[in-house]
Amino acid sequence: MSHNVLMETDVPVLVVGGGPVGLTLAIDLAHRGQRVLLVEQRDGPSEHPKATLLGSRSMELFRRWGLDEEIFAAQMWLASNEGIFVEPASAASIAGLFKTLNPASGRAYDPGKIRDGARIVCTVTGHGLKDVDVAKDRCSGVINSKADRKEILHKIGL
Ligand SMILES: Cc1cc2nc3c(=O)[nH]c(=O)nc-3n(C[C@H](O)[C@H](O)[C@H](O)COP(=O)(O)OP(=O)(O)OC[C@H]3O[C@@H](n4cnc5c(N)ncnc54)[C@H](O)[C@@H]3O)c2cc1C
Repeated sequence: MSHNVLMETDVPVLVVGGGPVGLTLAIDLAHRGQRVLLVEQRDGPSEHPKATLLGSRSMELFRRWGLDEEIFAAQMWLASNEGIFVEPASAASIAGLFKTLNPASGRAYDPGKIRDGARIVCTVTGHGLKDVDVAKDRCSGVINSKADRKEILHKIGL
């Protein structure tokens, strides 16, 4: 059957291309209450990762969309459970994974589409201290220490 169905539709904004730019634009317009139609020529995600890194400025958009708390929580989960302290924006992939697996949180992606035994790779980058203010605000306290291994270990009780 041919998929070349010609349709006429009337939308205020048409975004062509569901890459990072098109998706971001469409999401942002929708958050501002703008009706938008996004068209993409492919019928699934790209085969290769095209954005393994997310810059700190991405957090400005995540904050605007009300997703920053989930991302900070994922960043803290990673630091507490895996001992890996990454820059906040890069924890977005972990937050998306939690969202996918938690039916109560409004799933980001249908987990049924993940085949059994699939390996999920979340690339996290940067250092948590890249955004010092966020780190200070989110931690329960700051321990001052000289840059001395012995003193640091002593002060954190190791
Ligand atoms: C291997 C690789 C790794 C990368 N890693 C990073 C990274 O770590 N960090 C980073 O910031 N950037 C990275 N990049 C760059 C990043 O992927 C691009 O800058 C980004 O994808 C550009 O986004 P875009 O939306 O402008 O274009 P694209 O991602 O190219 O998206 C355009 C979309 O439009 C669709 N399209 C085109 N024409 C039509 C049409 N006529 N009708 C319907 N749909 C159409 C295409 O199918 C495509 O999905 C990487 C790129 C590659 C290839």
